This record gives sequence, structure tokens and C-alpha cells, in this order.
Amino acid sequence: MMDHHVLILGGTTEARHLAERLAGLGRVTLSLAGRTKRPARQPVPVRGGGFGGAEGLATFLSNNDVTVLADATHPFAARISANAAIAAEAAGVPLVRLERPAWSPVAGDRWIEADSVAEAVAALGSSPRRVFAALGRQELAPLEVAPGHFYLVRSVDPVEPPLDLPHVEYLLARGPFAMADELALLERHRIDAILCKNSGGAATYAKIEAARQLGIDVLMVRRPTMPAAGVVASTVEQAFEAIAHAMALVSERGE
Ligand code: NAP
Repeated sequence: MMDHHVLILGGTTEARHLAERLAGLGRVTLSLAGRTKRPARQPVPVRGGGFGGAEGLATFLSNNDVTVLADATHPFAARISANAAIAAEAAGVPLVRLERPAWSPVAGDRWIEADSVAEAVAALGSSPRRVFAALGRQELAPLEVAPGHFYLVRSVDPVEPPLDLPHVEYLLARGPFAMADELALLERHRIDAILCKNSGGAATYAKIEAARQLGIDVLMVRRPTMPAAGVVASTVEQAFEAIAHAMALVSERGE
């Protein structure tokens, strides 16, 4: 039987769960970009940092005898997913993409959708508002274009240097977040708009439910387009099955 090596491109909770699920099936390596200062504990060996574009990733796949590539990166991490599609094709390695479903608005939601953070900030309008910005610390620069609003910024790592804004407060926290806590947070800061990305998943959905309950606007940044490559799975279990199937095909081919 052929020795398998799955490389998971991670940085998400699902990637960690997929690594756990795959741990008994063969060799598994989890790759992190190295953005978070204290990443969560991982159940399999981890490598860190960029590969050097699609070409670097293809070389890594070949040099490390990777037999299946699993792209379980965040739905907004468009570059690494594009690189994964190109590299998998170049190295002749099957690709499985784990993509958690996007959120959709339901009755009572007051969403204003935008294609970028800058577009969402513009949609806040000109009169001063109290905005809860639940965004990554690298995505906050467009807020400085609209200094008239108050911003409550929540991120995993500190925002350094701080934003050049007159009315801003920072909050450090890592999900999952509970509905009661989100409601209390929005009320305490008298928030009237949430600015966030359509990340999907349960861990950060409570703020959307809280906004619905309070009847406040959600400036929702749409997802970037992902490459149409490989097998797409929407749950960890589906991804696990697709990877096991890909392994079986690779083994057949190798015999
Ligand atoms: P990105 O813009 O798609 O990627 C930028 C570069 O970072 C890539 O070209 C690659 O460098 C490197 N990279 C990204 N993910 C990597 C990984 N898992 N392993 C090794 N290198 C990686 O991605 P991003 O938006 O900066 O996100 C970086 C990481 O944070 C991802 O792993 C993602 O899952 C996680 N994350 C992102 C978000 C978000 O909203 N974007 C939210 C939560 C978690 P090279 O070209 O040199 O290989």
C-alpha cells in the first residue's frame, strides 16, 4: 500500500478539525501562514509561513511527496486558494477544497452588501455612526477614510500601529462568540452598524443574530471568487470522504 501525505492549508477551525479527522489515515502536515501570534494548538505537525507563490507550493508538494492537497483556508484568503489550484495542477496532485457555506440574509436582517471593506465603509454614509468592526487587523485601513464615525474594533491580535482615527476602541477576542455576549456588547457601546465579512460558520454568527434582534444594519462584505478547481466540500466530514476517495484513486494509479 502506498504511503499517503496530506498537506492541509489551514488557518481555520475547520482545518484543525480536518487534521484531527485525518490523523489516523496517514501522514498529515498542516500549513499556517504565520499571521496569528499565538495560534491554537494543532493535532498534527505544523509548518509555517508562505511557500513563495504557486511555484513554491508546487515545489513543496513534489519535494515532500504530498499525495493529496486540502485547501481549508478562510473563504477570504483568495491568493493562497488560487495558488493551491495552480500548484495542484502543476504537481499532478488531487485538490480538495473545504469551503464553509456563506451566510444568507433571513427575515429581519438589515444587510447592506459590499464587495470590499472600502465599499462597506462608504455605505455607512456621512452622518456619524457607532460601528462595530469585526475584521482582521490587516483589513482596517479603509476605516481611516471615514474618521467621523466611532469604531469598536475587535481582532484576535492587537492592531499595531493603532489606526489614525479620533474615535476608536479596541477589543481583543477570539471566537466562538455567544449571542448573549454579542447583544450585551452591542448595547453597551450603543452600536448602530456592524461591519464584517461573510465568513460563514457558527463561531461568529451570533453578532448577525444580535444585529437582527436589535434591528441594526450589517455592512456585509461579500466573498471573493474562488478558483473552480478540485473537489469542493462544505463540511469537514465531506472533505474527509473526498480526501479518502482521492487517496484510493492515487493508490490505484500508483500500483
Ligand atoms: P491570502 O491573501 O490568500 O494569502 C497571502 C499569502 O500568504 C499567500 O500567497 C501565501 O504566501 C501565504 N499563505 C496564506 N495562507 C497560507 C497557509 N495556510 N500556509 C502557508 N502560507 C499561506 O491569505 P490571507 O487572507 O492573508 O490569510 C492568511 C491565513 O489566515 C490563511 O491561512 C487563512 O486561512 C487564515 N485566515 C484568513 C482570514 C481572512 O479573512 N483572510 C481569516 C481567518 C483566517 P506564498 O504565496 O508565499 O505561499
